[in-house]
Amino acid sequence: MPGSRPLLMLPGPVEISPAVRRRFGEAPLGHLSPGVIEAFGSSLEMMRRVWMAEDSAQPFIIAGGGTAAMDMAVANLLEPGERALLVNTGFFSDRLKEMLQRQGVEVVEVRAAVGDVPATDAVQDALESEPKSRPFKALFATHVDTSTGVRLNPRPLARLARERGLLSVFDGVCATGAEPFDMAGWGADVYLTASQKAIGLPPGLALMVVSARALESRSSRRSAAPPMYLDWQEWLPVMRAYEERRPAYFSTPATNLILALEVGLREILESEIRNRFVLHEIAGRAMRAAWSAMDLKLVPLRDELASNTLSAVRLPDGVKPTIVRGILEHGVVAAGGLHPEIRDSYFRVGHMGYAATQPAMLIRTVQAVAAALRDQGVQLNAEAAVEAASSILGDGPAL
Ligand code: PMP
Repeated sequence: MPGSRPLLMLPGPVEISPAVRRRFGEAPLGHLSPGVIEAFGSSLEMMRRVWMAEDSAQPFIIAGGGTAAMDMAVANLLEPGERALLVNTGFFSDRLKEMLQRQGVEVVEVRAAVGDVPATDAVQDALESEPKSRPFKALFATHVDTSTGVRLNPRPLARLARERGLLSVFDGVCATGAEPFDMAGWGADVYLTASQKAIGLPPGLALMVVSARALESRSSRRSAAPPMYLDWQEWLPVMRAYEERRPAYFSTPATNLILALEVGLREILESEIRNRFVLHEIAGRAMRAAWSAMDLKLVPLRDELASNTLSAVRLPDGVKPTIVRGILEHGVVAAGGLHPEIRDSYFRVGHMGYAATQPAMLIRTVQAVAAALRDQGVQLNAEAAVEAASSILGDGPAL
């Protein structure tokens, strides 16, 4: 598509709304200017609503990515020699494991086959078999694993953790603001994400909300403090000051991203947060209907495991992973496989954030995938796929 920008349908970074883009592109302000203080303070307040968190929970906005947010949770909550239970659903759970191990934490894993999630019973069994002398400190899980498009249900895991006195930490990088998560109602302790996914911003912010219990765990830590940039205690006075609309400094914030964050969160909260979850459920269902109309199978083994933020689609026999290049030739940026065990057998398409509000973008994506598959000789009915998605999405605004 010479001359026109391809549509960014990765599972992050994603398309952003015109209003977010305008705010991001504004002339820079000082980090202690009233404009930044107001955007920072109101973003912190709105995060509690998007996360469905208690008033006592503490939001953090830090320059960095999802990996920085994960590192922060690990570094603040676990001390060397402690034990953690990891519910492992793929590539990003493996990353958590490595982080925990680097921190000197003993990790016990409950794993599932690729495309599946461990049964809650298996997690419960693992918790019950812990030695009394060395109890688990925390449970970690990935809400949506971006390498497989598999979504687990955090609710029973958070409940199990609470019942047994563990902290629960959920990586919501590919889920927060799109998949249902009720931090207060479920009693979760940390829910973390990054700006470039369903929050609908360019990359560059690590975002997390931390329960009072988890903060207390950091302040009663016995071993050496975490690395300075990762330490919640360094950031806490800054977050509190901004929320009270006072200037404060620890390390220079990503000012233009924070201006954009205020707009992005406001868009998410235009109506109740639960409606944003429904919007993504509709977008996800529409995309799945399109894949099914093209006879394409998903990596998640069962329908209820398929996330609404991205589709991980298996390649039909004979189609090469270079399909991603073909999709780009039809004007859409998609992603290749990521999970090491199945990398060359599938591709991924994101449908979260602003794109989930734009049926025309979703339809254009279906058309590009269909066209690229046809170029590789796959017989399919593209019109039926578009029709299947459209009938779920209704008539959206033109692109
Ligand atoms: N966790 C999940 C579930 C992710 O999808 C990603 C990014 N794709 C990360 C963590 C890491 O985020 P980042 O690339 O911003 O460091």
